[in-house]
Amino acid sequence: MKTENIPYKIYLDESEMPKSWYNMRADMKKKPAPLLNPGTGKPMTAEELGAVFCDELVAQELDDTTPFIEIPEEIRAFYKMYRPSPLVRAYCLEEKLGTPAKIYYKFEGNNTSGSHKLNSAIAQAYYAKKQGLKGVTTETGAGQWGTALSMACSYFGLDCKVFMVKCSYEQKPFRREVMRTYGANVTPSPSETTNIGKKILAEHPGTTGSLGCAISEAVEVAVGSEGYRYVLGSVLNQVLLHQSVIGLETKAALDKYGIKPDMIIGCAGGGSNLGGLIAPFMGEKLRGEADYRIIAVEPASCPSFTRGVYAYDFCDTGMVCPLAKMYTLGSDFIPSPNHAGGLRYHGMSSTLSELYDQKLMEARSVTQTDVFEAAEYFARVEGILPAPESSHAIRVAIDEALRCKETGEEKTIVFGLTGTGYFDMVAYEKFHNGEMSDYIPTDEDLAAARAKLPKMN
Ligand SMILES: *Cc1c(COP(=O)(O)O)cnc(C)c1O
Repeated sequence: MKTENIPYKIYLDESEMPKSWYNMRADMKKKPAPLLNPGTGKPMTAEELGAVFCDELVAQELDDTTPFIEIPEEIRAFYKMYRPSPLVRAYCLEEKLGTPAKIYYKFEGNNTSGSHKLNSAIAQAYYAKKQGLKGVTTETGAGQWGTALSMACSYFGLDCKVFMVKCSYEQKPFRREVMRTYGANVTPSPSETTNIGKKILAEHPGTTGSLGCAISEAVEVAVGSEGYRYVLGSVLNQVLLHQSVIGLETKAALDKYGIKPDMIIGCAGGGSNLGGLIAPFMGEKLRGEADYRIIAVEPASCPSFTRGVYAYDFCDTGMVCPLAKMYTLGSDFIPSPNHAGGLRYHGMSSTLSELYDQKLMEARSVTQTDVFEAAEYFARVEGILPAPESSHAIRVAIDEALRCKETGEEKTIVFGLTGTGYFDMVAYEKFHNGEMSDYIPTDEDLAAARAKLPKMN
């Protein structure tokens, strides 16, 4: 076993936890493109956004100049219940792989919701409460965001209405019941409870739903209910801002031991964990102070970065949300239902999209059988049962470590381990039974969805 002066787990003291979130946009010379009003084609104003989102969150969404935004004391108090999260040196994995690479992972699965999503859920619930709202609505795909938001809402005494993508609602009854344990109201989407849900069901009978469709339903209910606003667990700038707590802690832990990563790897669904993990490192890169390789990993079945186009698109299927400029597959794109775990969104954070377009980061896609192979390997070696989403990052971290083994390079790899996979055992079961297949959309599939991008592009 390699022994070094670095512990298996690098913890921070409470006093070393970040007091502010870091807003990467402040250091970007070319800013991410603004959200547009789908009616007028003009940038959304704070007032327009305020009809859908909480006021303080709108201010954060639009702020691309303030680098540090203070974390309110109430949120820091909640963070202290489950943070700082450990940065783990994967000595066992290195040993097993026989690689000279040094591998670290930031583990965000150490809370009941089982993922990083709680970092933003608690912030969003706090601002909703502070505004005097009765409750919030949202959508959830695999269920982690809904779970995190349910926990956050129950902490602040807010009502929480969750539209859950139908195939997940059926495949993940335990997730659903965790949400209900925390007092949330969970509806399978598309549903008959909204106009857009009825319309989608009429056009696509028997559909298993999509995130874009659940978003439309949640927005419709928020806008139509007094004292409610809509909240979103990924994609938006405000979510990346809250998730910067991951990267700030990671950087503080590495700095304690004078470690400089060569590459930082994260899975990318809507981009929030990756945006949060890389934030302070990207900040250094943007300011010309340091350089890192940054790799986004996405499923081959939903490849927004690697096969999408950089264009304005609808964020939802019902086309009720603002338009965002992002790497997208088209809002009509619905990943194959045999795609097992998360990362199903058709688009990508506009901040990460701009950084990717400026070639400040890379992207790679991986197939789900390769992902589960890495997940199982990791579980057996490092003990943690990873979420399928997180395992996309594990796959590429292992691939890079194996490359170091060939070249003899002692690279330092940091990856984000976003959560645990206890509620994903149906997918693991399919993998074990050899029933998991790799559906990769054809160019024709992608062209069909792309044809429906808004005309303005
Ligand atoms: C939601 C989720 C993701 C992907 O979402 P991002 O916004 O891209 O971070 C990744 N891992 C886990 C465990 C998740 O719950």
